[in-house]
Amino acid sequence: MNVPFLDLKTQYKSIKDEIDAEIGKVLENTAFAGGPFVKAFEKDFAEYCNVKHAIGCGSGTEALWIILLAMGVGPGDEVITTPNTFIATAEAITFVGATPVFVDVVEPSYSMDPTVLEAAITNKTRAIIPVHIFGQVCDMDPIMDIADRYGLKVIEDACQAHGAEYKGKRAGSIGDAAAFSFYPGKNLGAFGEGGGITTNDDELAAWMHMFLNHGQEKKYYHEIIGWNGRLDGIQGAVLKVKLGHLDKWNELRRSHAARYRALLLDVKDLSLPVEEDYSSHVYHIFAVRCKERDELLAYLNENGIGAGIHYPVPVHLQSAYSELGYSEGSFPVAEQSASEFISLPMFPDMTDEQIERVVSVVKKFYAERYATV
Ligand SMILES: *Cc1c(COP(=O)(O)O)cnc(C)c1O
Repeated sequence: MNVPFLDLKTQYKSIKDEIDAEIGKVLENTAFAGGPFVKAFEKDFAEYCNVKHAIGCGSGTEALWIILLAMGVGPGDEVITTPNTFIATAEAITFVGATPVFVDVVEPSYSMDPTVLEAAITNKTRAIIPVHIFGQVCDMDPIMDIADRYGLKVIEDACQAHGAEYKGKRAGSIGDAAAFSFYPGKNLGAFGEGGGITTNDDELAAWMHMFLNHGQEKKYYHEIIGWNGRLDGIQGAVLKVKLGHLDKWNELRRSHAARYRALLLDVKDLSLPVEEDYSSHVYHIFAVRCKERDELLAYLNENGIGAGIHYPVPVHLQSAYSELGYSEGSFPVAEQSASEFISLPMFPDMTDEQIERVVSVVKKFYAERYATV
């Protein structure tokens, strides 16, 4: 039995009638760019995240970029984030003209280490972007405290954390603003590219809304030099339908994680993801850690298990960022974990048999390995 890394087709089939009907309405209304379907989704998403404003845009990358622009972050400024993230977090910082400054992550959450944050702040620092990696919100209280003390903005990279919680607060409702990705494989995924911004700041929201629509409030009267970053109508309709299922899907992910954990507990070579007391994890990624990562990954893939790596090279060591001058050894936790992480299949529609199949292949790998040493 093969087990894919994720299965979007089964999910689509489970909500096909609802989705097809909503897409049909967009077609009937020819409401393709922005418009009422996007507005309706934005209203629901704001409510879901417990914030005043949600704004759809083209992608998670664009969301991060627009938030930084709206905050006036630009050339000469520094923005602090972590290196074990998808490169988009750093790209957004670079594309407003600012410099990404990295701090290491902390085990076992692999998210921003608040104890090293303060040492990275300089008189050029303007903002901090904690990344809710794998679907678990960072330890936000100490980060918010430090940001308050230094007058810095906090932007949550919530691209992997739709519906996750920190001390009962939803991801996206804690910092000054947050970026979400609706890339198809994310916990809340569109049928194409899409992104979203959440904030409680009225002024910031108004500026971003205008910016994303060519800087106009009234058609062809442009107040600021803007951009076309609108979410399209079909994505708005799809996302609104899927948002109605998100809590159930996240609960399923959590129960699959619990099942993996119970079944893998006795594999002493694996370290399993830990859910912090402060958090409700939504397991966008179920990443385990092991020394023999490359061998295990190859074995899983050879046996039809769609395992992957998130991410093989931390951002500070990517060729694209060689100009920043970081070298190996800069961030030991991020670097060591990048060489040991392996992401097991995880999606809401996984069956018990699929989970058991993944576990049995993992166990077989170790059994064979120990038999030969
Ligand atoms: C997916 C992702 C992004 C980028 O989102 P896109 O919609 O693909 O542009 C940014 N940050 C993190 C942590 C992500 O996982």
